[in-house]
This record gives sequence, structure tokens and C-alpha cells, in this order.
Amino acid sequence: MDQSPVKKLKTAHGHLCNVSPLKDSKKQYFEASLQHEGECSDVMVFRPEEHMQFKNAEKIRSQVTLHNVISPLKTNGTSKVYYTHKSSISCVRDLGHAFRNTLPAEAQGIQLSELLKLDQKPKRVNINVKIILEESKGNNVVRDRRRYLPNTVYTVADSTGFISLTVWCQKDINVGKWYNFTNLSTVQFKGKTTLSTTKDTNILNIPSQGTAVDVDVPIESMKCDIIGVNPKRLFICPGNHELKDLILSSPSVYCVSCKTHYKTTASIMKISGRLHLKPEAGEIIRARVEDEVIRSVIAVKSDASQNDILQAFMALPTMQITICNNVIVKMEKSTPQNTLRTGMESQTSLAVMEPVEDLNDFSPPDPGIFSSQPQKRKSTDRF
Ligand SMILES: [Zn+2]
Repeated sequence: MDQSPVKKLKTAHGHLCNVSPLKDSKKQYFEASLQHEGECSDVMVFRPEEHMQFKNAEKIRSQVTLHNVISPLKTNGTSKVYYTHKSSISCVRDLGHAFRNTLPAEAQGIQLSELLKLDQKPKRVNINVKIILEESKGNNVVRDRRRYLPNTVYTVADSTGFISLTVWCQKDINVGKWYNFTNLSTVQFKGKTTLSTTKDTNILNIPSQGTAVDVDVPIESMKCDIIGVNPKRLFICPGNHELKDLILSSPSVYCVSCKTHYKTTASIMKISGRLHLKPEAGEIIRARVEDEVIRSVIAVKSDASQNDILQAFMALPTMQITICNNVIVKMEKSTPQNTLRTGMESQTSLAVMEPVEDLNDFSPPDPGIFSSQPQKRKSTDRF
């Protein structure tokens, strides 16, 4: 680089290092060092969407060319390079193959079409995607931490494909916006690749990356008879840890994660299950259902047995059931007015059944087992 004080567009060659994380100021940017012929330039990159490309170039030790950068005066032997919306990066020499096998399995920036083509080995990836749709909300036990945590499943897309992404815990994510997700793990389920956030995941709102592919997520709502169910009970401690050894007749239970003995009555039962549904027309559908949706139609006592829950399911009438990607997002008493409803509707339509009016319709088999009224959902901000 020469020492011209004039802000002319230039080309810079070298190796990238010290690529910083994205900095979340009003205008997002990141920094990097460009090493060339014994010198080092500080690069400020004002194209957050190219963060992954810089990271990858650093990782595979590729020589890069930065085109159309602004390079003002050298100060104290260091030159500044500004990588703006007019700039671009290209890899001059890809030394990746020599290093790739010896590198640890770090997350790679990837496009969704590539990801969906890949073999089914679990891996860590970084993606830039648009949030297309909120598919479902639920809770589950995170394997590595044994904690029962809330999650939201989104359909996300880039310009090449779309995929389901499970985001753990409550995150500030909006449908229609673009985000950079790092360190996602791939999950294989029934031959389908999905993504999940990990404890190392960072989520950053980024500018639009162009047009995302058209997504066709099937959301179905239909009248179904519940002909089969496989309910599962799960007990958690007040700190949301799974309690594997809980015995309801025992006065206390020990949580290995909290290292605390709790009163058994302080534990919380969560129910989930897989329902076999017979629509009025068509094949039997199997779909997963979780605690909150179950409790919107069944009142479960805190000491209900597996069999009690099973019987309550069996006693349910034909219901209007909304399913998205094999997950039941809504169950409601079937009425003629709502047969045309779909899950795409405004969120307020996902209402809880009013207990007083609906009481007679449930007719639980043994009133002694269930509380007299279906339990109201505690949090109203869900669904
Ligand atoms: Zn605990």
C-alpha cells in the first residue's frame, strides 16, 4: 500500500488474522489484521454479512485479496484499511486442504443448500438466515445440561434453502428479520436435517442478505379423533433439572444438579406424548404434543399417574388440531366455525379454552383423579 493521503480505492493482498467478532454498534462492523510482506494492516470491515467469509479465510489460512478498499495514511507503521460496501474479498491461494484435516471441528459458515446436501454427521455451523415463521414453542430437556428449558422452533431460510431451527431459551428474534447464528449443531431426525442452538451460539441481527427462497411449511388444521397416545411424564426440580429417580410415594427427592433434597411435592410434572390422530378423511397422522398444549385441554392433577393421563386423552372428544412439522401447536374443541382455521392466523386465536363452559365436554372418566376444572395456562405470553 502506498502512502497517498487520498482516499482512493485500492487492492490489498495478504493473510487474515485476528478476525474479531461482529461488533454490535449502530452500524455493525468487525475488525481484522491483514499480514503482508512483514507488515500488518488493521482492517475495518463494514460488511457484517461477510464475517463468515473472513473467518473462514482466516481459518484455512488462505491468502486473500481485498478489492476496492480505502487505505488512508500510514500512522506509526500501521496502515488502516477500510472495507466498505464497495469492497469485495477473494481467496487467491487456497491452502485449506493442507490444514483442514488437522484443524479441530470448528463451526464453518455455510449456506443452507450446502448444509442440506451434507452427510449426516453432527457438526457445528454458522449461518446467515431470515426468520420465516415461528413453527412451535415448547420445552424439553437439553441433553448436555439436563435442564428442562423452553425452546422455539423457527423455519429459517437464505437464498439457497430453508430449514427448521430450534432456539433454546427466550431470545429476541423477530419473524422477517435476518440473523447471523454461530455454533449451531445439526440434528438428524427421521432422515431430516434440522438445526439447534448450542451453549456457544451467538445470535446477531444483521442487514437483509437479499431474497430468501420461497418456503412452504405445511401447517394443517383438521378435525381429528385421538385414537392413540403414548404419554410420558417427566419430573423437574424447582431449578428445572430433570429428576430421574423421583418416586411419588416418597416424601423427598434428591436433585444431583442442585445437590439438594426437595420435597416431592415441590417437583413439577411435565407431560408430553405422541398422538395418533384419525382425521375425518385421510391417513392416520402421528404428531408430538407437549405439556402446555396438553394442559390446554386436559386438567392434570399433580400426582396423576401415567394411566390417569392416558384415560384423560381417551376421553377427549374429536378435536380441531393444528399441526406444524409433526408438532401439535393447538388443540381445541371442534366447532363448525373454526374448521377453516390455520396456524398462520393471528396469535391471539391460539387461545386457551375457557374452563367453565368446556367442563362438560371433557367428562373425565374419574372425577377424583382430575381437579374439578381444567387448569388454566399460567403464562399468557406463549403462542
Ligand atoms: Zn435441580
